[in-house]
Parts: sequence; C-alpha cells; structure tokens
Amino acid sequence: MELWSIGDFARASGLSHKALRLYAGSGLLEPAYVDPSSGYRFYDPAQLATARLVADLRGLGMPLAQVADVVRLAPDDAADAVAAYWAQVEERTGARRDLAAVLVDRLARKDTTMTAHRFRAATACDQGLVRTEQQDAAHADDVVLVVADGLGPLGAAASRAAVEAFVAAVRDGVDGVAAADAAVARTAPVADDEEATSGTTLTALAGGRLVHVGDSRAYVLRDGGMLLRTRDDSMVADLVDAGRLTQAEARAHPQRALLTRVLHGRGAVAASRAVDVLPGDRWLLCTDGLSAVLDDAQVRVVLAAAADPEAAVAALVDAVRSAGAPDNVAVVVADVVEA
Ligand code: MN
Repeated sequence: MELWSIGDFARASGLSHKALRLYAGSGLLEPAYVDPSSGYRFYDPAQLATARLVADLRGLGMPLAQVADVVRLAPDDAADAVAAYWAQVEERTGARRDLAAVLVDRLARKDTTMTAHRFRAATACDQGLVRTEQQDAAHADDVVLVVADGLGPLGAAASRAAVEAFVAAVRDGVDGVAAADAAVARTAPVADDEEATSGTTLTALAGGRLVHVGDSRAYVLRDGGMLLRTRDDSMVADLVDAGRLTQAEARAHPQRALLTRVLHGRGAVAASRAVDVLPGDRWLLCTDGLSAVLDDAQVRVVLAAAADPEAAVAALVDAVRSAGAPDNVAVVVADVVEA
C-alpha cells in the first residue's frame, strides 16, 4: 500500500494541514499511519473520497459534529442529511433576512428619538381541551405585557404570583424579574437541599425592554411580516443552534418541553434587552400552548387578519382549540400607539 505524506494528501484533497490535524483530532479523518518516532502523518489515497466530502460539507458551513455524522452515513442517507441541513440553513436565513430588514429600516430612519408609546391590548387564557388545570397566566395594560407558564404541582400559583409581582415592580420602577422570582419563592417554597419542582416561565414587554425566561414567546407583526423576538431557553433550541436538529425536528422532539431556564424562586437569570417598539406594531406574547401547536405562518395570518387585539386573542384561542389544544394557553396581543 502506497501512503501519501500529509502535504500530498492536503494538495489532493483541498484540505489544509491545519484542517487535517483538526479532523484527525476530532476522529473525523484519522491518518492511515503516524510514524511513531517523527510523528509524521500519512494518508491512504483511498481516504480521498471522505476527505473531499468533509471539505465540501465544511464549505457548506456544516458544523463539525454534524459533518462527523454525515460522513458515516450510506450515500442515500447522507444525501437526505445534506438536504435537511440546507433546508434548515434557508429557514434561518429567512429569519435573519427579516431581522436585517428591521435593522436597515431602524438605522435609515431620520427621526432616531424613540417615540413614547402605549399599548392597546387584550389577553386570553384557556385551559385547553386536555389539561385538568389552568397553570398559565397573562396580564396586559397600557404599559406592560406579560405571559407566564406555570410548571409543576404549584405551577398555577407560581405563574400568577410571578405576573402580579412583575407588574407591580414595573410600576415601582424596580427589577421585575427579581420581584417575580421572589414571589415564586414565597408561593412554592423549597428547602435548600431539595430540588425545586414548581416554577414558571415569564415573557414580558415593558418600557421598551423584552424580558424572557423559559419557552414562552414574543413575536412582532410589522409591515406584514412576523418576527420571533425571543429565543427559547430549551434543550431543543440549543440543539437547533448547534445544528443537531432542524426546527421541524425540534417541534416533534419528545424532550421539547425540557427547559434550560425557568423562575424557580432561587435567584433568576433572565434575558433582558432593549427592543424597538414602534407605533403600528402588533405584538403577540404567548405560552407554548399556542406556539407549539400552531405554526408561525398560521399565527401570522390570524394575527394580521384580526380587526383589533380582542378579536386577535379570540381567533388565536379558537385556532388552538381547533388543533386539539393539548396544553394551557395564555396569549396577549397589543397594538402600539403613540402616547
Ligand atoms: Mn405550556
């Protein structure tokens, strides 16, 4: 068997020395022989097909871990895997294109002073058709919007207490997340050595800031397009980001309800960021009882068609019930108007 030096193999495969060392280190493409005294690496010309496939998949931007899976598949399965990967890239690119359009619009706007706004909002909570208890909560007034999805045996009390405390804290100008978490601690107390079994998600919009813990969501309908403005704190969202799952696979994943962050009453870390809240926007905050049941395209159509927030929340709950309503639902729809 004639072996090639790493230099010859790099030239023939189109992979750099550095890339070959990386792929050897990650078990993706091991040299056929490593000289024990010099450490020189040698490759078998029969490894060229795998090397070229690796180079091409990396050229597509596929993450290393996913490349390792694909090169081990039979050609038909590998073809399916590449097609699925590309569909996912296009899906994400679409979402980024929408976000880029919003950014371009914001940066190009002459008047950069934020206009004071207020909400014209409506809420709806529905137990759904399967659950025996309603554990979701919602609140909306002209300055603050909140939804919460309670978890565990004391979830109903936890979500309500969190929403109430958040709204009061916003009125007092203090940290809403800390207040909501403290309210959960009082409602569902746990000893230091015990694992918390109850808690709640929280997604809120107030004062131009979006605050978020868990897998409830905030979307904005603007210029006919709908943008997701939160990232789920869930295991499947992490897997999608790592390129291990497509959005479609995530929706059907058996562990899709596994959350990486919730309010447990133990000191909370929440994502909190400034967002554009513009007159003419229609915001939707909802729990997963809506977002896991209806797809985004369907939500956008219902949201855009409704004459006002009251009609929108009613139509969204109707759509969820028509789809079987397997979970509780909390929904807030708010139109933004100049103050
Ligand atoms: Mn839920």
